[in-house]
Amino acid sequence: MTSTYPVWGWGRPEEAPATAELEALAPAAQALLGFPLQAPERPAPPPDLPAPRLQAPAALDPIAACEPLDRARHALGRSYRDLLRGLRGRIDHPPDLVLRPRTEAEVTRVLDWCAGAGVAVVPFGGGTSVVGGVEPAVGDGFPGVVSLDLGALAGVAELDRVSRAALVLAGTTGPALEAALKPHGLTLRFYPQSFERSTVGGWLATRAAGHFSTRATHVDDLVESIRMVTPAGVWASRRLPGSGAGPSPDRLALGSEGILGVVTEAWLRVRPRPAWRAAATVAFATFEAGTAAVRGLLHAGIEPATCRLVDAAEAALTGTLATGEAPLVLGFESAGPPLDAELAAALQACVDAGGRVLDEGAARDAGAGWRASFLQAPYLRERLVLLGVLAETFETAVTWERLASLVARVRQATTAALAAVCGAGTVTCRLTHAYPDGAAPYFTVLAPARRGAELEQWAEVKAAAAEAVLAAGGTITHHHAVGRDHRPWYDRQRPAPFAAALRAAKAAVDPAGVLNPGVLLDAAR
Ligand SMILES: Cc1cc2nc3c(=O)[nH]c(=O)nc-3n(C[C@H](O)[C@H](O)[C@H](O)COP(=O)(O)OP(=O)(O)OC[C@H]3O[C@@H](n4cnc5c(N)ncnc54)[C@H](O)[C@@H]3O)c2cc1C
Repeated sequence: MTSTYPVWGWGRPEEAPATAELEALAPAAQALLGFPLQAPERPAPPPDLPAPRLQAPAALDPIAACEPLDRARHALGRSYRDLLRGLRGRIDHPPDLVLRPRTEAEVTRVLDWCAGAGVAVVPFGGGTSVVGGVEPAVGDGFPGVVSLDLGALAGVAELDRVSRAALVLAGTTGPALEAALKPHGLTLRFYPQSFERSTVGGWLATRAAGHFSTRATHVDDLVESIRMVTPAGVWASRRLPGSGAGPSPDRLALGSEGILGVVTEAWLRVRPRPAWRAAATVAFATFEAGTAAVRGLLHAGIEPATCRLVDAAEAALTGTLATGEAPLVLGFESAGPPLDAELAAALQACVDAGGRVLDEGAARDAGAGWRASFLQAPYLRERLVLLGVLAETFETAVTWERLASLVARVRQATTAALAAVCGAGTVTCRLTHAYPDGAAPYFTVLAPARRGAELEQWAEVKAAAAEAVLAAGGTITHHHAVGRDHRPWYDRQRPAPFAAALRAAKAAVDPAGVLNPGVLLDAAR
């Protein structure tokens, strides 16, 4: 049977989890999670899709595909909902065609055809959206929908060593970008957890955040200029280190999630690769004590590259610390002189705030182990889902004075929803990013799912969590984007005049309303 792993899985085809491997994993996972797991689920056979409603014009034929598994792969992102539906062969909204432009001219040709024929077009980078951003759920107002896969528009086109910037094509994945920069001793130093599969265009379109906790957290901070093709023409900003010339064209393109145009390339700020790294872990009696310590660090002007505070339950589950304390994982790195003084000052501040230093040491690759387990998480998640675990994450950000009440409220609401819907389950929290005025709490939900009812179960839990986030003053997303799934809460969060301005901007550059309908705004037809 043809494997459907590319439709729902994270790894290469040969990395699809085998039943024997899942059976071996189950006892330890069950002991750790504290609720019963189920027999490994066998993925459904490849889905039967309705025939494509569209045929590409001759000029686009060389870049068009309509093979069913390819269409199914482009029908889903990588949220829990996506993973489950992919596993079960449930492809609710397949694109009619997948188009893979190799040049910007071909992107323009695709948009010309789609705008003229009223065909919806969904830009697709790595397809790692966790918010329904790439699912062609565009409503009934279109004669068809294409998934515009930017994967062939990849590579580093130019390197400016004088200004330390690289011109990167939109479809470039994290590993491909770093591999191209490495021989030059340079790095973008941007590592979202989806690094392996996500693309530069996707990062820009979603305002992604990397794993570094402070300073340049979002990709926004690394952008010098963006080039985006819209149905109304090319939107290209000038390369500048900074500019006060009115509202920024880059800032409007950032986070536009494919509704204003297709990002084809961007100049990004690169830097020398770090030569020195050091890491330490400090244990706090409570998560609250740890948050006070993190706030103290930021207020003292100490900004560790890694500054992740993990609650005791998550620390135990991930094997980070099993003492019932909340560990703060600290990491410093430098491309110049060692930062021993900063590390010492951070540790002293943590001790003054009641922390207990667990280990400490300068090591050239201290962060490597942590990074490897961080990047393994998507592989573990799909294995847990196959064993019947409802496994999902969500994140927000809030100012310090409201952080404790937000975390308490979200924990309480989500745990209550899990108890009602799943009968058990855990909600854990870590701080992933820290700012002088607040932080980004990131929640992980693990619960026993009821086979066949998972989508309804997750919808209830997600709604309870999102309501609590909004009521406690947080944002519906710190970096996972809005897509289609976060619309109900995003619509309530944004100011009404801003929504009107965004609608007007879209109408100006996409008058036919064909670009990613339903994302950020309602479809205009
Ligand atoms: C396991 C896992 C871990 C994750 N970790 C992180 C994380 O650490 N930080 C983080 O920020 N996010 C994370 N995400 C979410 C996701 O990876 C990000 O949103 C990422 O930026 C998406 O990139 P992509 O190339 O996969 O884009 P896609 O998923 O293909 O697309 C995302 C959105 O951008 C649009 N888009 C894509 N390319 C273009 C383009 N060239 N022009 C215009 N629009 C475009 C799409 O239409 C869609 O709306 C994670 C997701 C998973 C599954």
